[in-house]
Amino acid sequence: MTQCPKCAGKTRPVLVDEYNDEHMGIPVILVNAITQEICVDCGAVASTIIPDHKGLIAAVAISRIIDPLKLNGQEIRFLRKALNFNGKEFAERLEVAPETVSRWEHDKEIMGPAREKLLRLIVGKNLSEHAMAMDFTSDTIIDMRIQSVRAHEPSAILLERVKVKFPEHPSEKYWGEFDEAA
Ligand SMILES: [Zn+2]
Repeated sequence: MTQCPKCAGKTRPVLVDEYNDEHMGIPVILVNAITQEICVDCGAVASTIIPDHKGLIAAVAISRIIDPLKLNGQEIRFLRKALNFNGKEFAERLEVAPETVSRWEHDKEIMGPAREKLLRLIVGKNLSEHAMAMDFTSDTIIDMRIQSVRAHEPSAILLERVKVKFPEHPSEKYWGEFDEAA
């Protein structure tokens, strides 16, 4: 049992309809997936439980790379961090100077479409195994036409916990794209 940090009252678990996750640097909304311990007396949030954090990062990354809308600087930075690369390692993988990475991430230089597709393929290869509920095939990226738009705000990625049927894990839940129709 959790105690309220403000008034030491009792807390109860509440499922949050839409949780805006601001830890990743790009807008992500987690639908019916986050539990918070809320104080019954004063309403303070005592704790927030985000399940499967590694899987969440991977699902956000895969969701973004299968969307053909051109990546902005914030999103490039998010993907680099999701891959666990520092600026130098990232520059080496994409065969550019380290200064170029910084310029991409600050929207001072545009990443060309071929290099952007290479980045997307690297993300897919490294992270899709942690995003079991997301459909990723490298063909999606290879056949993709990157949609270039002038300055855009990234649209929020909506994720929920979905059941994935695997013989070895029959009812485990993974992060997947929020399906409004379901
Ligand atoms: Zn309280």
